Amino acid sequence: MPRPIQATIHTAALRHNLARLRAAAPGARLWAIVKANAYGHGIERAYEGLRGADGFALLDLAEAERVRALGWRGPILLLEGAFEPRDLETCSRLNLWHAVHCEAQIDWLAMHKTHAPHRVFLKLNSGMNRLGFAPGRFRAAHARLSALPQVDEIALMTHFADADDAKDITAQWAVFEHACDGLPGERSVCNSAATLRHGHEAAVRADWVRPGIAVYGGSPDHPRHGAAHWGLQPAMSLNAGLIAVQQLAAGDTVGYGSTFSAPQPMRIGVVACGYADGYPRHAGTGTPVLVDGVRTRTLGRVSMDMLAVDLEPVPQAQVGSQVTLWGRSSQGAVLPIDEVAQAAGTIGYELMCALALRVPVQVL
Ligand SMILES: *Cc1c(COP(=O)(O)O)cnc(C)c1O
Repeated sequence: MPRPIQATIHTAALRHNLARLRAAAPGARLWAIVKANAYGHGIERAYEGLRGADGFALLDLAEAERVRALGWRGPILLLEGAFEPRDLETCSRLNLWHAVHCEAQIDWLAMHKTHAPHRVFLKLNSGMNRLGFAPGRFRAAHARLSALPQVDEIALMTHFADADDAKDITAQWAVFEHACDGLPGERSVCNSAATLRHGHEAAVRADWVRPGIAVYGGSPDHPRHGAAHWGLQPAMSLNAGLIAVQQLAAGDTVGYGSTFSAPQPMRIGVVACGYADGYPRHAGTGTPVLVDGVRTRTLGRVSMDMLAVDLEPVPQAQVGSQVTLWGRSSQGAVLPIDEVAQAAGTIGYELMCALALRVPVQVL
C-alpha cells in the first residue's frame, strides 16, 4: 500500500468559486489566475474546473505553454510581461497578452518584429511600489505604446496593496482613476479581495477582474472573513491516514523537542503527514485538524513525515482513520486552509503553493 496521504482537487468547487466570483462582479470578464502552477493545484488538474473563465493569467512563459497545450485558445495574460526581449517571440507565437510595467519592456516591443500586433496591459504603480509606471510617467508610456505598430490594444491595470484589510482601496483607486482619466482601453484592477468586496460597485469600473485565491476557495481577508462568509468552497483537500495510536500517561511528551507534555492520560494519533509533504512546520500544538471528520488539534512539533493529533475528542479513531489536514473530509466536514495557515503564522496561499511533489493528487 502506498503511504496513506493524498491531496484532492475538487473540480466542482473550482466551478462553484468561479460562479461566485462572477456574481460578485457582474458584467466583468474574469481572469482565472493560475500562476505558481495554479496556486499549487496543478494547471492541468485545475483546467477542467477553470475552463469557464474568460482567460488565464500567469507569470511564467512555460506555464503559458502548458495552458496552450491543454487546447486553450482564449486569452492568456503574462502578469509581469516579458523578462527579456526574446520572450516577445513567445508572445507572438502563442498569442499571449502581456503586462508592460517599465520602459525597457517598451524598448523591446519597439524592436520586436511581429506580424500580429500585441495586446498589452499597461501597469500603473498606484502605491504598492512593486511593478508599474509612476503616475507621472503613465501617460507618456501610454503615448509611446500607442505609437508602436507592434501594439494594437492597450488595457490599463493596477494592483491593490490593501484590498484585504480595513485601509482598503480608496487611495490607490483615486490614483488609478486620475492617471487613467480620459485614456481609452479596458481596465483591470481587482484581485480576489477587491472583487468580492467591491466588484459590484459601479464606481470601481472593472472590465476584467483578476481573482486568484478565491478561485481556489481561500479567503482573501481571513481572519476578518472566512471562506464560508464569501460562499467559497475549498478546491484542494489534504488528507492522510492515522498510522499509529499511542496511550500517554500524564507527563509523557510528544515529538522532537518534547514541546507537548500530556497534562493527564490521553490517547494520541500519529498521522502520515509532515513538513516534507508541505504541512507547515511552524504549526504548533493546537493547530486545528479533523479526524474522521471531527475537529481536534495537533500536538507537539511537526516532523518531516509525521505529526501527532489529540484523539480525546474522537475516541472511536484508530489506525486507518482519515485525518484531514485542510479542505474536505470524506464525511463532508470542512477545515478551512486559512485556519491552519493562521496557526502557522502564514496565509492559505503559501500552504496551497507549497503542497509537496511527493503527495499523490487525485482530481475529483
Ligand atoms: C496574484 C495576482 C492576483 C491575484 O491575487 P489574489 O489575492 O490571489 O486574488 C491578481 N493580480 C496580480 C497582478 C497578481 O499578481
